[in-house]
Amino acid sequence: MSQDPKVIDAVVVGAGFAGLYAIKRLRDAGFSVQAFEAGDGIGGTWYWNHYPGARVDLECWDYSYSFSPELQDEWEWSHRYPTAQELMAYLEHVADRFRLREQIQFNTRVDAAEFIEAENVWLVRTSDGKTLKTRFLVPATGGLSVPKPPEIPGIETFKGEAYHTGRWPRKEPTYEGKRIGVIGTGSSGVQVIHTLAGKCKHLTVFQRTAVFVVPCKNHPLTPEMRQRARATYAERRALSRITRFGIPAAMPNDSALDATPEERKAKFENAWINSQLLGFRQCFGDILSNTEANELVAEFIRDKIRETVKDPETAKKLLPYGFPFGTKRPCLSDTYYSVYNRDDVSLVDLKSTPIVRVVPEGIETTEGLIELDMLIFATGYDALTGALTHIDVHGIGGRKLNDKWAEGAKTYLGLMTAGFPNLFTVTGPGSPGPLANMSMSIEQHVDWIADCMVYLRAHGIDRIDADKASEEAWMQHVQEVVSRTLYDKAQSWYRGANVPGKPQIFLPYLGGHGNYRKKCNDVAEAGYEGFVLARGKTAAAPARGEASLMADAGLAGGGV
Ligand code: NAP
Repeated sequence: MSQDPKVIDAVVVGAGFAGLYAIKRLRDAGFSVQAFEAGDGIGGTWYWNHYPGARVDLECWDYSYSFSPELQDEWEWSHRYPTAQELMAYLEHVADRFRLREQIQFNTRVDAAEFIEAENVWLVRTSDGKTLKTRFLVPATGGLSVPKPPEIPGIETFKGEAYHTGRWPRKEPTYEGKRIGVIGTGSSGVQVIHTLAGKCKHLTVFQRTAVFVVPCKNHPLTPEMRQRARATYAERRALSRITRFGIPAAMPNDSALDATPEERKAKFENAWINSQLLGFRQCFGDILSNTEANELVAEFIRDKIRETVKDPETAKKLLPYGFPFGTKRPCLSDTYYSVYNRDDVSLVDLKSTPIVRVVPEGIETTEGLIELDMLIFATGYDALTGALTHIDVHGIGGRKLNDKWAEGAKTYLGLMTAGFPNLFTVTGPGSPGPLANMSMSIEQHVDWIADCMVYLRAHGIDRIDADKASEEAWMQHVQEVVSRTLYDKAQSWYRGANVPGKPQIFLPYLGGHGNYRKKCNDVAEAGYEGFVLARGKTAAAPARGEASLMADAGLAGGGV
């Protein structure tokens, strides 16, 4: 595409699910591609997050690439929910099968990117001190890739081992005979806790907010199960493309409040027994939009906790309150609550017993010192924006992306941010991202981006940017959809609440994967409506007025 042999067509950042598919798709479309990956291997999120117990919480049939029927047929998943290690093996297989490693430079971080207006190129600076010019920049950096350490005084004084789940060491630590402390009880913490309980001398869990944990029902897969899944892959994927969550699960419309107590109990018990991430949300249509309906689920799960945990005081500390069920991502585990019945596991409720400081020997709380050999921080991420804002990105007029997003990230469709032409965000803020099946969302975005680049090439267009007014309207729409749900009632990482000082704005789009996919397709078919396309460096008017954008009735959203 590029006339200048020194200018590459696309720089892809990251070699996880998104980066690998971006390399393949863009290369297949005839573009020259160079990818950079900070780690020394394939895997992205799964490369960094292979802590004890790390596994995906969507079924393998859904959390995998759909672009290649051959790949689907040949890959043998071992479990319903594969481990991080198995997902890495899968991604390594994908990289080898489609010869993607040729395009990847490992152990190299993209440190900075500056848009040179006169040439319509990005000047990319990498950690090996080199620079490269590219027409398009595709950060496939993931929404959960910049770990957020806890702000606890004295951390640096700890003399034992200390690890963040999001930067797990390549050489697996040993746990036997050690006194281990885990800070954080989100999805990562829950997986670490149920895995290490019983495998170390003592496990102390430091819990700031109790979470809803529902059974996982993970199991090995038999050849018959795989055969059944293979036979239905085509329909499964087709359905996933139109549903709210990007998995083959229809959402009901009926209200929990219209059901009898017996009907509700039967549905909730069924969701508990045949659990999966969306089980409870699939029981009734208003679980995420009606406080009373939501509280029925919340209380059902609290009863399960009371039944499971023998010590009533410990059970009480584990009861989640203060946010509606589902508005922070529920965690999956079959054994999480029962580990608290073990003598070698203890729970510190940080609300009643706060941490004073970390000391060389362990953690000092208001009730005294807890001696530890290992500290595990399962304290989450600077989510959705962190990976991009950690790169020094300068757009038109030298404007820094960090400055533009100082009051909150803004994008048009989660695909581009105005003033930063030819930079495509994969599952960026403003797209369904983590509130839908990530692998489905990634494929949809990468396909859209590749098709867009093909269109630009075919029409001799040098530059595409989000129109500012379209971006404003889209972000308003994102917020408006949130306001129709209960998600606003939780201090979650979806809105940046977990990172002190981060602007709080709800970032994922809750309108549903299927609706969103249709919207993106419609925009493209209308000649990239709401984007500004230009030849040379002269900006044209938006491809079409953005007034019609929000009139799209198909976008009426609901909670995801
Ligand atoms: P997270 O959901 O943000 O949880 C972080 C935990 O650390 C919370 O319990 C938080 O408490 C606590 N915490 C943070 N700072 C703290 C501090 N200074 N002192 C004490 N506690 C502190 O992070 P995560 O568990 O890594 O999960 C993030 C997301 O990754 C998940 O929601 C999910 O989307 C994804 N994930 C998925 C899987 C899977 O597929 N199975 C596994 C892991 C992660 P507060 O709640 O009080 O802030």
